[in-house]
Amino acid sequence: MTEARPVRAPRGVQLNCKSWLTEAPYRMLQNNLDPEVAENPAELIVYGGRGQAARDWESFEAILRTLLELENDETLLVQSGKPVAVFRTHADAPRVLIANSNLVPHWATQEHFDELAARGLIMYGQMTAGSWIYIGTQGILQGTYETLGSLARQRGWPSLRGKFVLTAGLGGMGGAQPLAITMNEGVGLIVEVDPARAQRRLENGYVEFVVDELEEAMSLVEEAVANEQPRSIGLIGNAADIYPELVIRGVVPDVVTDQTPAHDVLAYIPHNLNLEQASELRSQDPQAYTQQSMASMAHHVQAMLAFQKAGSEVFDYGNNLRQRAFDHGVKDAFNFPGFVPAYIRPLFCEGKGPFRWVALSGEAEDIYKTDTAVKELFPHDEHLHRWLTLAREQIQFQGLPARICWLGYGERAAAGLRFNEMVANGQLMAPIVIGRDHLDAGSVASPNRETEGMLDGTDAVSDWPLLNAMLNAVGGATWVSFHHGGGVGIGFSQHAGQVIVADGTPEAARRIERVLTTDPGLGIVRHADAGYPLAVEAARRHGIKMPMLKTD
Ligand code: NAD
Repeated sequence: MTEARPVRAPRGVQLNCKSWLTEAPYRMLQNNLDPEVAENPAELIVYGGRGQAARDWESFEAILRTLLELENDETLLVQSGKPVAVFRTHADAPRVLIANSNLVPHWATQEHFDELAARGLIMYGQMTAGSWIYIGTQGILQGTYETLGSLARQRGWPSLRGKFVLTAGLGGMGGAQPLAITMNEGVGLIVEVDPARAQRRLENGYVEFVVDELEEAMSLVEEAVANEQPRSIGLIGNAADIYPELVIRGVVPDVVTDQTPAHDVLAYIPHNLNLEQASELRSQDPQAYTQQSMASMAHHVQAMLAFQKAGSEVFDYGNNLRQRAFDHGVKDAFNFPGFVPAYIRPLFCEGKGPFRWVALSGEAEDIYKTDTAVKELFPHDEHLHRWLTLAREQIQFQGLPARICWLGYGERAAAGLRFNEMVANGQLMAPIVIGRDHLDAGSVASPNRETEGMLDGTDAVSDWPLLNAMLNAVGGATWVSFHHGGGVGIGFSQHAGQVIVADGTPEAARRIERVLTTDPGLGIVRHADAGYPLAVEAARRHGIKMPMLKTD
């Protein structure tokens, strides 16, 4: 058996592989498992429950060996984290094609997946874990920043300045909330049941205050709101106690959401149990625990519905909380929307989504130079400028230096081409890898999240991510992936990813222009086809050819 070992991506300008197009996946696969980046590198787990970078250590080492030898007209095929073949293709083809966790729909159940996984025949790729473009917490922080920024714009607020945001959960993903709120200039109260989790966020600077008493928390909130001063406060308590208590007190936050782990009834802490009692009941009687958990979530959602009635902006942050409450008898649980239909879809209609890039040199300076280049390219985008400035000040890189921001159709290609020029003229030390999350405008079918409530009811149609993967492959992305089950679990989603390398060559420029145009372009097409007027308008404005688009 091949042993686990510590892994870190090579840095510098010296190639290990035969070109930068193979060096890039070679470094990025290892970067995903850097101890600074991955949640559990010994098990090859990058993030998101069981999201792996390779099927097992033997497969991992075989992928690296193959990439070291891969020629510039060859393509490596990776099937659920195992390298299965190398074929002669051509120079403009992807160097790696990846398919992770895919099952024929009838068999796409957690049970069948787990059976295969136990036999070493499949792995869970999540979104960016198995496609080698995870960049650590920055990704979720920026997504939360963008969601809250979009919410503010929709409400006609210039930012969250002077606004009170109530939420819960300071875990792996939820821990990004306080910083995303203050980056949007708001005041956040985040209810967290586990003092140790809150303490961790305090220590790493994600939350500014942690208090035990509601009174103290509310004084801090009220003072900051009155002074329009950005502030984040963690309150130790259970959301299903604190939310109803605030309702009783007549407090009406401007925004209410939640990031407790409602997707997993055994992870959510029911409000009538302390942490110790919860852990005991969970191990002794999981069924009784589930009952209490569901009842608590029903209570929790009823308070959110009360806030909504009182005028708060309330939304579900992708954790399935509404479904749990609905299943426990709260028939109007779906009265408040999920975050994608509420705030993100208008961005998707413009082909806007998460654009990320990584400096293969390992030099932070390369990223700072690209930050400046992006600001120069889009001088009037204040929201983008604010993010890039704050990101530079407040984000510690994990693994290879990286950056993320949301860019739309036209903008992504412009940024990619600029980076390629900067590599060509020696401004940057080494090539840049450009990729994105699978959560994007035209690359995902996920009816409880990215494609919830589509205008034409096509929430579960996964032709779109398939077309996306094929289009990116023919366009010449450096690696392309197609996964099942990311974000919301087995059976619930299908999605595609692409990564393209800016190595400074004219060939790369041509590939970048194609891929970074068609990739967001398909996002516009997917939404225009579903009938979203914003997307129809975007398709018309950009001259995207859609043979059956009705424009009136
Ligand atoms: P996590 O398990 O790391 O953290 C959850 C936190 O909630 C823990 O700190 C826990 O102590 C706390 N908690 C549990 N029950 C509580 C209660 N009743 N009251 C107050 N605090 C409670 O999970 P995570 O990675 O932070 O993710 C949180 C949830 O958000 C998950 O369900 C995840 O799927 C979802 N999520 C969705 C998106 C998205 O759709 N974009 C993004 C991120 C996370």
